[in-house]
Amino acid sequence: TDYTLLKEGQNALFDEESGKNKATVWRLMGLAQKEAWLLVIATVFLFVSSLATVAVPKLAGELIDVCIKFHAGSSEGKEEAKKHLNHELYEILGILAVGAIGSGMRSWLFNGAAERVMCRLRSRLFGHLMSQEIGFFDRIRTGELMNRLSEDTRLMKSAGTISISIALRATVVSIFGLVLMFVTSPLLTGLTLAILPVLLVAFRIFTVLNKKYTAEGLTASAEASTVAEESFGSIRTVRAFAKERAACMRYDRSIRKVLHQGLLSARAGGFFFGFNFIVGTGAIVCVLWFGARQVVDEKLSPGELSSFVIYALYVGANTGALAGVVSSLIQAVGASQRVFQLLDRMAEMQACGQEVPRGRPEGADLDLRNVSFAYPSRPEIQVLKNVSLHIPPGRKVALVGPSGGGKSTIVNLVQRFYDPTAGIVALDTMNLKSIEHEWLHQQVSIVSQDPTLFAESIFYNIAFGMRRGGDDVSLAQVEEAAKAANCHDFISQFPQGYNTTVGERGVRLSGGQKQRVAIARAILPKPRLLLLDEATSSLDAESEAKVQEALDRVASGRTVLVVAHRLSTVQSASEVVVISHGTIAERGTHAELLQKGGEYATLVRRQLSPSAGDSSAS
Ligand code: ADP
Repeated sequence: TDYTLLKEGQNALFDEESGKNKATVWRLMGLAQKEAWLLVIATVFLFVSSLATVAVPKLAGELIDVCIKFHAGSSEGKEEAKKHLNHELYEILGILAVGAIGSGMRSWLFNGAAERVMCRLRSRLFGHLMSQEIGFFDRIRTGELMNRLSEDTRLMKSAGTISISIALRATVVSIFGLVLMFVTSPLLTGLTLAILPVLLVAFRIFTVLNKKYTAEGLTASAEASTVAEESFGSIRTVRAFAKERAACMRYDRSIRKVLHQGLLSARAGGFFFGFNFIVGTGAIVCVLWFGARQVVDEKLSPGELSSFVIYALYVGANTGALAGVVSSLIQAVGASQRVFQLLDRMAEMQACGQEVPRGRPEGADLDLRNVSFAYPSRPEIQVLKNVSLHIPPGRKVALVGPSGGGKSTIVNLVQRFYDPTAGIVALDTMNLKSIEHEWLHQQVSIVSQDPTLFAESIFYNIAFGMRRGGDDVSLAQVEEAAKAANCHDFISQFPQGYNTTVGERGVRLSGGQKQRVAIARAILPKPRLLLLDEATSSLDAESEAKVQEALDRVASGRTVLVVAHRLSTVQSASEVVVISHGTIAERGTHAELLQKGGEYATLVRRQLSPSAGDSSAS
């Protein structure tokens, strides 16, 4: 189970069964389907290089036999023997060349295929994540997603494909080696194999332990990444509270868990390799001793004994490599299960329809009918209860009310970040669910309190909302939007003008500048419904006036829904709606509501009075 994936106490995000089935390995292979021909060629090269590897000891043994025979006074003369040796050398060199080509091609092709598979997998996973509903992102940590996208796919690549190539090679070399050992001396082979069960038992213990430690280590490591990411992402808050040390300690705590698992795994590895050394090397010595007796008995030539020992070393090294590969294959299967789980996740929100309503030119018609809503991350709390609100084209409605009442939630629903649990949100009398996704977001634009800009140029940021990512937007269009949003002047004063980069999340701009860039971004697609979330009081008087002026200008000729914090805004609204505890408490014009002397009148006295922020109102 992947409980680490969930923010604490959340309901399950995934079908637990998904990705847990035995078919994981098949699915992994399925990912490489496009590379099938590459892999087949790579496998051929793999066989070629493995054959070359096992051919060398045989020839080396012959070389030794030539010199031993000469030493023992054979029929060959000195020159003849040297020629014979040269001949053996040429054969060995030829085989080495074939082996080098085979091994190089194998490595190149396998790794290339692995890179392609990983690239495709990442792209598919990212696309799939982008299509998940906002409620999913409310419940999952960004760090977890990052981990799956980069770390798990990397594990899948290195372990899933490269290890398979190593495993294949090791298997082929071991089998050929064993066969040749047997051909050389069945008796010695039997003796060598008698030691195998001991090694296998040790290996089994080691893999079980290692699998456990690695899985725990990976979970701990994912936690550590999440902690790190949170700290980087909120570095200003950390600095503002002088909590760097606390952040370091939190990170240390989480990597110490990784360390703990790593150390356990290292110790298990130590025992295993120590044991391996004594059994493995001991076995070779035994074989040598026994083989030497056979040579003395003239049942085996010295050259054959040499070849045999080299084969035994090969087989030992390659079964050892297989052992190493098995643990990374286990990791890869774990990583793929996590990735497949994400890939299998169906968005809980129904996809958008294809309708493109033709509305009135003076603005969109927005209608919330009996809307109730609870956030998916907190399904037990009703945030909106049976809210009905109609804004005819070209009107401006101000939402006011106590914090936590549900104003931003209404704005979220109008952008279809979530679907209401009951009731309908309709734009131009059409249910949002049936409206085409891009069209909807060209019609509806938002300027939020703290707009998020991308670490790109100002041009990119303003053109962002256009179809095709602003590729077909001209500088003139961007400038026009910027002028309307009161930001053309300050942008032209930058040495690089519209090409100035704004820094991560727009940190290189002041709050007021950021907001005006966000206004330009919002109006460039010529939306017919503008959603405004007024900043409470983060701006100084002068930039606030500029932002206000821009907002007033861009609001004309559009339907506007504004979460209001200013007296001037509510005064100019055609209707003021007081949202409190998820319901509409009062509605009417500013004057009507003031006269009524209810909740709104109290609110105005407390929050919207000139002293509480709006210096322009009188
Ligand atoms: P307002 O804008 O009037 O201050 P909100 O609409 O932001 O109020 O919040 C209404 C309620 O919904 C609050 O109780 C808040 O805690 C809750 N809420 C807001 N956003 C989320 C979210 N993403 N997930 C769960 N609960 C949320």
